[in-house]
Amino acid sequence: MITIHPIPAFNDNYIWHLRQGDEHWVVDPGDANPVFDALGDNRLSGILLTHHHPDHTGGVEALMNAYQCPVYGPATIAQVTHPLVDGDHPTLIGCHWDVLAVPGHTLDHIALVLHAGEELHLFCGDTLFAAGCGRLFEGSPEQMFDSLSRLARLPADTRVYCAHEYTEANLKFARAAEPGNSAIASRLVSVKQVRAENRPTLPSTIGLECATNPFLRTQSPTIRALACERGAPADASPVEIFTVLRRWKDTF
Ligand SMILES: [Zn+2]
Repeated sequence: MITIHPIPAFNDNYIWHLRQGDEHWVVDPGDANPVFDALGDNRLSGILLTHHHPDHTGGVEALMNAYQCPVYGPATIAQVTHPLVDGDHPTLIGCHWDVLAVPGHTLDHIALVLHAGEELHLFCGDTLFAAGCGRLFEGSPEQMFDSLSRLARLPADTRVYCAHEYTEANLKFARAAEPGNSAIASRLVSVKQVRAENRPTLPSTIGLECATNPFLRTQSPTIRALACERGAPADASPVEIFTVLRRWKDTF
């Protein structure tokens, strides 16, 4: 039985800690110290990385030195010992995984899908956030749109483990982008309560994201109309709607 817990890091990062029996793995350790604290006397068995940004990789060196553990992730990252590419299906922590290339936030970004029995768990780094998506630092809007669409096609009950606690701010944007969406309104109420208790709002699910995440909802007539008010052409493609939404969010 695998368990998955967030280790908070920096202001709003989550390092996901996976445990099965004596095996401990972490996803995107931007800082080693909270991982050392969470592990206590346990040894780290391995590290998984989604992309090269320092707030996801900054702790790798210290953890490798302490535990001599393998590092799986994009080949762009110097410390990676086991490069992963789209279509790989590694077996790690006694489970099958799928590797999906999801360029956009960065060009090297991958998403990792863990199969735990019938349950799917998605580690999507800074690509898909709860009610939002990552900024476009390296990729094009088309790449990000395709990457998000790929993730949205996963089964609705797939659990979604994002790398940041951005949910409340994202939902405020979602409410502005799609006023009248009652699922967004009720999610914002519950997320405010969870944050008031200083608890994580994650994991999410693909089904919840498809219902409340404006970046997965470019087909919504309301979102389309508001995007057109902000410069999207009347016959805009879903990618063009997405492009306007992403630009709007950058300054929201
Ligand atoms: Zn990033």
